[in-house]
Amino acid sequence: MGANPPLKVLFLSAEVVPFAKTGGLADVAGSLPKAIRALGHDIRVCMPRYGRIDKDRFGLQEFIPPFDVPVDRGREQASIWQGILGKDVPVYFVDCPRFFDRDGIYMYPDDAERFIFFCRAAMEMLRRPELSWQPDIIHCNDWHTAIIPNWLHTIYKDDPLYRNIASVYTIHNLAYQGIFGYRVLEVAGIDEYGFIYHPGMADLGEVVDLMARGIYFADVINTVSERYAQEILTPEFGERLDPLLRDRRDRLFGILNGIDYEVMNPATDPHLCANYDANSLDRRVANKEALQCEAGLAVSPNVPLVGAISRLADQKGFDLISRIIDPLMCYTDMQFVLLGTGDQNYHDMFTAVAQRYPQRVAVFLTFNAPLAQRIYGGSDIFLMPSRFEPCGLGQMIAMRYGSVPVVRATGGLADTVQDFDPRTDRGNGFTFEAYDSMALFAALVRAFETYRHTSVWRRLMLRCMAEDFSWARSARKYVELYYRAISARTPREAHPFDEYGVSRPDKES
Ligand code: ADP
Repeated sequence: MGANPPLKVLFLSAEVVPFAKTGGLADVAGSLPKAIRALGHDIRVCMPRYGRIDKDRFGLQEFIPPFDVPVDRGREQASIWQGILGKDVPVYFVDCPRFFDRDGIYMYPDDAERFIFFCRAAMEMLRRPELSWQPDIIHCNDWHTAIIPNWLHTIYKDDPLYRNIASVYTIHNLAYQGIFGYRVLEVAGIDEYGFIYHPGMADLGEVVDLMARGIYFADVINTVSERYAQEILTPEFGERLDPLLRDRRDRLFGILNGIDYEVMNPATDPHLCANYDANSLDRRVANKEALQCEAGLAVSPNVPLVGAISRLADQKGFDLISRIIDPLMCYTDMQFVLLGTGDQNYHDMFTAVAQRYPQRVAVFLTFNAPLAQRIYGGSDIFLMPSRFEPCGLGQMIAMRYGSVPVVRATGGLADTVQDFDPRTDRGNGFTFEAYDSMALFAALVRAFETYRHTSVWRRLMLRCMAEDFSWARSARKYVELYYRAISARTPREAHPFDEYGVSRPDKES
């Protein structure tokens, strides 16, 4: 930590493992704070208390009784429940039945209101005497919490309690920006400031793009790999925000995610039928056989078993597979196990493929964490052909479990997987560049050919397993980012609104 003093950090996330998860954000929020605390900093997590988070199961205790939270010109009550992440990271759950006592996490018509309320409750929690704790940093993640840097420059700017707080905004996926109408400004209590205006992004003058606001106002911004931090500066990956990101590039950093080495460990994973590590790799084949049985595939130790675990969204590149699945089945002996949920067209497509090749293709169209572990521990090859990928956790988990990745060289996939070169025996997986099904086909065929060479393949597996994707290194980089945010803190009176101007719709018309 050097000469720098320990920091106090409030880490806000809409999902946190083990309490609620739909994707990689939850994995990060459930493991990065533990690693930062291990470095000696006082980091605390805050998230909504969704209906599915059982207070008894997680031993949650009421910490702050109901208090008023301003929302949409009125007030609503929230209480704070406290739990624990890992051994010693406090987690504050914002409890408000009206907004969060529902079966799911997202996809409700009032999502904007729900997450703005969550953020406002977290901010108002800081006034409560029960807490008596002031953060140096508020670390916001994705669109759900992007309003906070905006508030620090508007409604909270003259309040001494908040004046010295620096904000860090992490973009986990630029494709989900939280775009809503003008009403949302009223809900958030900042309608008097109107829309923001940027000369390169005319659309922003007509919608409330919460992620854009996070990027506008945060003291520092980061995304979850170095490559993606570069890519989003271009129109191809910038999701229409690239002009703004280019303006803010001096505050934009890339820090690769880690994975939780305690949870993601083939030597101790309770979901595997045979635990193993680099010294007992021969035991791994029992997991492959068990997976073949579970998936109803032909049981054979010698055919390459390809696994994929993913949200089934266009981002993830499964349209490439659909175009080559028949030739793959015809010209190779691969088996394929897919675990994922998402868009109906992918559900239909993969269901049809599994029906055509019952002994060789199995699809599980559900969210199932234990099965995911069995696929990581039982597959030979792990497939991630993403169109874009901010970081990607699947390929890192797969490598830790000795499943060799075949990925498209984009974003975090490019930062973590180096193409195998048989001449030099370097590389830890197979990559392809063009977003093209034949390029994927070629990468898979190279993987299958290499797989035939048992000793080469074994070395490849061991190299994957020896990679260090633990959080320790990245957590240090986040701490550096926090110090940078403190020193780069924009004075409240000179916020970027001045630079860009604001526009207010004519409410009369
Ligand atoms: P993203 O955040 O874009 O969904 P990541 O690769 O960063 O993608 O993280 C996905 C995480 O969610 C991984 O831990 C992966 O194992 C897990 N996951 C994705 N789909 C499923 C599923 N259907 N069942 C279980 N785990 C899943």
